[in-house]
Amino acid sequence: MSGARVLVTGGAGFIGSHLCERLVARGDEVLCVDNFFTGSRGNIRHLLGDPMFEVSRHDVTFPLYVEVDRIFNLACPASPVHYQHDPVATTKTSVHGAINMLGLAKRLQARILQASTSEVYGDPAVHPQVEGYWGNVNPIGPRSCYDEGKRCAETLFFDYWRQHRLGIKVARIFNTYGPRMHPNDGRVVSNFIVQALRGDSITIFGDGAQTRSFCYVDDLVEGLLRLMDSPDDVTGPINLGNPNEFTIRQLAETVIELTGSRSQLENRPLPVDDPRQRQPDISLAIETLGWKPTIELREGLMKTIAHFDQLLSA
Ligand code: NAD
Ligand code: UDP
Repeated sequence: MSGARVLVTGGAGFIGSHLCERLVARGDEVLCVDNFFTGSRGNIRHLLGDPMFEVSRHDVTFPLYVEVDRIFNLACPASPVHYQHDPVATTKTSVHGAINMLGLAKRLQARILQASTSEVYGDPAVHPQVEGYWGNVNPIGPRSCYDEGKRCAETLFFDYWRQHRLGIKVARIFNTYGPRMHPNDGRVVSNFIVQALRGDSITIFGDGAQTRSFCYVDDLVEGLLRLMDSPDDVTGPINLGNPNEFTIRQLAETVIELTGSRSQLENRPLPVDDPRQRQPDISLAIETLGWKPTIELREGLMKTIAHFDQLLSA
């Protein structure tokens, strides 16, 4: 639906800035709301002069009064380093943020999409992960503020749907990467690329045999838009990610090859509760949204490397 008034919380972040860009390009009127905890004005600088784009500094743990037709709720730090920095704030952002944005959606009768996560599956005992799997999550560990916060947000979305017939969409996003990831946010793709470009050691946590499935940001944004535009009865939760699975060691070796770096691999201790494997089953997204990723790892890494190369040499 183009021409809609769309609120994007967390719109100055990595994924949010790409989403805002796509929405403005298709003719929507975009209100980006962000407290700039991990996002930045730099991520949206190119949109600031556009009359269809507006930005407001606001923390979603406080109520928000605006008039919009659709809400993408992305506000929440996503990297383990950032979300563990102030774990209480992380839970508040997911839970109070969801309550506030759902309350707003209810008043406006607006459709609302939640950026949930593959972390709701925890360290999964079912592989690949299907939406029907309830997960294996530690409720009291260092990752719990994020994992349980996101799980509680899903609960709230489905209770607003059952209780108030609100139009909800829940996307379970798997590891996504691309330009505008924060260079210091500690996530594996940005870490490895920055380390390789600087010639520093590539820090492999544990033995590097753990797996992840990496989705390029443009593919992910296309999935989010299709989900938001899907018929009323499509609520999700629906997995969005690239099913091609790699070990962390394979990722390190690919980054070294593509950057032509002389960096060496260095093993560091594995963080507590680090999931051993992660791969989305995207059958539901293919069937319901006609969506699947089109950009494979090497191509996406090349685009991301070009971005960081420019950033580091600026
Ligand atoms: P990001 O950290 O780059 O973006 C999050 C944005 O939310 C930032 O701009 C930040 O400043 C903002 N924010 C944080 N707390 C806020 C608050 N209380 N009020 C207002 N704004 C706030 O992360 P991202 O990778 O772009 O992730 C976006 C969303 O997608 C998050 O909800 C994240 O949980 C989800 N997600 C991302 C991934 C991934 O691999 N990138 C995977 C699964 C889920
Ligand atoms: N990782 C790593 N080296 C790094 C950063 C991360 O080996 O410098 C590993 C991390 O232990 C995890 C995987 O890469 O197994 C993905 O980590 P990330 O923080 O990107 O996301 P997660 O999927 O764990 O939330």
